[in-house]
Amino acid sequence: MGMMRGDEYRDSLRRLKPEIYYLAEKIASVADHPAFMPHVNAAALTYDMARAPEFEELLTTTSHLDGKKINFFTHIHHSTHDLIRKVKALRALGQHTASCFARCVGHDAMNAIFSITYDIDQKNGTDYHPRFINLLREVQAKDLFLSGAMTDAKGDRRLSPSQQPDPDQYVHVVEKKKDGIVVRGAKTHITGAVNAHGHLVMPTTAMKEADTDFAVCFYVPVDAPGVIHVFGRQTNDDRKCSGCLIDQGNAEFGIVGGEALLVFEDVFVPWEHVFMCGEHDFAFELVERFATAHRQNYGGCKAGLSDVLIGAIYGLNETQGTAGAAHIKDKIVEMVHLAETLYCCSIACSCQGYQLPAGNFIADPLLANVTKLNVTRNVYEIARLAQDMAGGMLATLPSEADWRDSVVGKYVDKYLKTSAEVPAETRMRLLRLIEGMTCGTALVESMHGAGSPQAQKIMIMRRANLEHKKRLARNLAKIGE
Ligand code: SF4
Ligand code: FE
Repeated sequence: MGMMRGDEYRDSLRRLKPEIYYLAEKIASVADHPAFMPHVNAAALTYDMARAPEFEELLTTTSHLDGKKINFFTHIHHSTHDLIRKVKALRALGQHTASCFARCVGHDAMNAIFSITYDIDQKNGTDYHPRFINLLREVQAKDLFLSGAMTDAKGDRRLSPSQQPDPDQYVHVVEKKKDGIVVRGAKTHITGAVNAHGHLVMPTTAMKEADTDFAVCFYVPVDAPGVIHVFGRQTNDDRKCSGCLIDQGNAEFGIVGGEALLVFEDVFVPWEHVFMCGEHDFAFELVERFATAHRQNYGGCKAGLSDVLIGAIYGLNETQGTAGAAHIKDKIVEMVHLAETLYCCSIACSCQGYQLPAGNFIADPLLANVTKLNVTRNVYEIARLAQDMAGGMLATLPSEADWRDSVVGKYVDKYLKTSAEVPAETRMRLLRLIEGMTCGTALVESMHGAGSPQAQKIMIMRRANLEHKKRLARNLAKIGE
């Protein structure tokens, strides 16, 4: 026991039997499947680098519990030095993976739960904190990688957890037993869930008294009965299974982290792994502490396309019950403004067109180049706003094959549903349309199609007539020739 190496981490995953689905296939070994290999490799590096002499000081530390040497990702921060070290450690790992190594989420969850359990015990005389310390001892001794699972499926966004017609839209306690609790629900887009050893599950929002059953925080091993993982589909993910290494860009560690829909189908959690159960008045504080810890780590045709994108994102927000929110309306207006600005540019350069000696007309070259240069910017901003409003599901939506699958299809369908009137399929279709329009190739086309930005700048410089502008200024400033 003690700090693991990367290969020992891989072996430890092979000994577990989690229920994982990807493209409607039940995965036999997450450590050996090409779809997960980059994510496993990135997490493995958090083990290997900690054992490398040059990173030992950054990635290892001393347990405040027993004074033993531990991997920094199992540590509870006890100084600003620790916090600064976390940032430096993440930077060093990022420099070596150029991807997400996922282990920070559970690390941040550990630190948040460590503190909140103490506060709950102080107020209520409970014993959550010593329970958590016991788990922490095990995590440190075995060098475990835990995921941090916060975001619920959320159903109709206008309704609180207890108001949802389907209570499973938020993870909640369905039964309290002598030896533990039974939980049901799902957490969405959970980073590292498939290649972690276990999950730290936390509430996702502030809770009121009516939401008492939803104020629950606990730990489950990744292969606990009833814990089901449906891995999210990523842009270009089939390149990982194609055998073409160059096409993957970063075949060893991947481009991004791997996220999964994490379903709890009546999962039993023994009391020793329950760290909040009904203390709704502490839910928000836990959310905020975790969020703080994790955020510490982190910045003519196109108008037609934008119209479709605006329609898709507005429709998506309608399915989620958020279309009426003031900030959504504001962002939609911003998108329309940006799209119409592009349109104005095209109209303007056309209006200012002129006849060539041959008799035909040409648009104003300066304004035409300005139009295209704006496309290289506004389209990205339009996409940014669409992604902002679409939410994380844009990047973690399970595949159509999983949705149609006879085993996990019912979970994907249930937890993608937002209200009784809107089928999950509607949301999936809109999300995939938005993904296709805002992720990857589509944006690059706006940058480089019809020439790269630098080509437009050269033309703008040539047509800018700077001497004329200079004369205007000199005349007004009364500068003699
Ligand atoms: Fe860690 Fe989050 Fe960065 Fe991934 S994205 S490496 S989990 S901080
Ligand atoms: Fe993340």
